[in-house]
Amino acid sequence: MRIMQKHTVYFVLLISLLFTSFRPASAALFPRLGHRAVEEDMADMVAVEAPADTLDKLLEEMIDLRLRADSLQHLLDGMELSAIAEEQAAAERVAVDTLPTDDKFIKIVLYSDNTWQYVDYGRPVINDEIFGDHWDNENIHAYRDVTLKDIPDEVDILLVDSLHHAVAPFVGRVNSKYAFRSNVGREHQGTDIKLNTGDPVMAAFDGKVRIVASSSLTGGYGNLVVLRHSNGLETYYAHLSKVLVKENDLVAAGEVIAYGGSTGRSTGPHLHFETRYLGQTFDPERIFDFTTGALQDTILTLHKHYYSIYSHNSQSDTESLAASQRIVHTIRSGDTLGALARRYQTTVSAICRLNGIKSTTILRVGRRLIVR
Ligand SMILES: [Zn+2]
Repeated sequence: MRIMQKHTVYFVLLISLLFTSFRPASAALFPRLGHRAVEEDMADMVAVEAPADTLDKLLEEMIDLRLRADSLQHLLDGMELSAIAEEQAAAERVAVDTLPTDDKFIKIVLYSDNTWQYVDYGRPVINDEIFGDHWDNENIHAYRDVTLKDIPDEVDILLVDSLHHAVAPFVGRVNSKYAFRSNVGREHQGTDIKLNTGDPVMAAFDGKVRIVASSSLTGGYGNLVVLRHSNGLETYYAHLSKVLVKENDLVAAGEVIAYGGSTGRSTGPHLHFETRYLGQTFDPERIFDFTTGALQDTILTLHKHYYSIYSHNSQSDTESLAASQRIVHTIRSGDTLGALARRYQTTVSAICRLNGIKSTTILRVGRRLIVR
């Protein structure tokens, strides 16, 4: 519509310009409308030269101009029609298939009218600050020099908006939560989700592959992928049977990056999934409900006390804060529950309650007990 209006305006301007420039000619043809001087000039010319010839010549010129204007109008009409035809075709055509290209973020879309086009499916936004700072393809943990003291008390992490989405890496039963495993005295810094070897594991957010490492290098993690995301988080995917990405690849949220397995320290096929901010772990269930795949919220406000292994998604923020202030003691040779209770100004029964043990439980050296 806009094209047509513009062309019509051009056409009218062009025609007025032609008639203005050739006013002497029009004055000669229509003497009563012309200037007296022109009329006189023309009268002289007509008088001196053959009037029929001059009129013919002028008429020829007029016809020629008219033809040129007509052909211009035809050209403009043609442009309008082709624009309208394109619009109609775009409205009527239906995408019938997509084909991959060398670039995984660009696909060829085929339409029902046998046309096709490249469609950009959205490349991850790679923010130089996040991907330039502590970028490390060698060490599993990149932020080893960042301590809790360096981390803000509160930080808002964007999980999803109109341009970014989030996908649970695997939807399934949670076998083991983010927790201090008091029975073995070890921290479990991620969420274990049950799967079968070979099940697809997906990138949680858009991002870039920082680490791909095999069992021989990672120990307990088995085959491991670490991704860094534009929202500032890092996610770890462990015990994988096969990895499909390589270091520095860009990945899209929901992209299959690996197949699950049971490599490393694992008693059966599962995905060990960690979420970290500047190297500090927090409960991944603060982001996903792994049993449904649903996001808990669109933005996650990370409080400093969330980075404690005693802080869980199921707690209120007050409970989380209290839990994060717990004190843990690593058993040394000669330690007794009575001595620990005195040292940490608590009671034997309180220590037993916090750790799920009995006062008669034998304290293995190296075991960690919550003492308060
Ligand atoms: Zn685990």
